[in-house]
Amino acid sequence: MGSSTGTVTRVLICVACRGTEQTMQKTKKLTKAPCRVCLRETNHTILASHALSGTDEISELGEIWWSRRYEMLACCGCDSVLLRETSSWSEDPEPSSTYYPPPVSRSLPSWRYKLPHRLNSLLGEVYAALHADSRTLALMGARTLVDVVILDKVGDVGTFPEKLEKMEQDGLVGRQNREFLAVALDAGSAAAHRGYSPKIDQLNQVMDIVENLLQAVYVLHGAAEELKKSTPQRGTKSSKTSSP
Ligand SMILES: [Zn+2]
Repeated sequence: MGSSTGTVTRVLICVACRGTEQTMQKTKKLTKAPCRVCLRETNHTILASHALSGTDEISELGEIWWSRRYEMLACCGCDSVLLRETSSWSEDPEPSSTYYPPPVSRSLPSWRYKLPHRLNSLLGEVYAALHADSRTLALMGARTLVDVVILDKVGDVGTFPEKLEKMEQDGLVGRQNREFLAVALDAGSAAAHRGYSPKIDQLNQVMDIVENLLQAVYVLHGAAEELKKSTPQRGTKSSKTSSP
């Protein structure tokens, strides 16, 4: 909406409460909205709705109209609540919606608390950048996560290809995952040094690769050891009956 200079005439009409601006209209209507817990678009109940509209006199544009609607929504799947602001004005009549808190494309993995504190903290910062749609920062952070894992597990042993080779030699990553990591590291390097801003799908692919590494190195290794200890071993009696 343009800023006004000179004489401004503002008329407020509250649609929801017909003149009582503080009153919210309660409805039981359903609407589609992105849920940051379910990680997809779901049906939401409209708990409350409040609408404003009006006109302004702007010297450059003359009289313009504007409208804003605020809705409190509850996800029918998980009951989480968010606020949607939908606005439009005469210069851009197509309504656009903003959500508070903003929608997210992925959530922090449940196993993050099994990571060393530094990695868990860094992973949280990467997700904060992801949720703020700061993709370049998130990609740089993803690369730093891999840096920290390599330093922790094999030390500073030369260039990135050499470090990845050492990771493979030590059995920390397979050959295919090593190639995936090289691609993720290159993307992170492009973000840090060449101003590369990835699309959200590309960023999610890098996050999949990086989280795969974190989970394999710090979470599944311990889980496999636990499972091995708790699994009953094969008995020796079967060898007596194995001959025909
Ligand atoms: Zn939900």
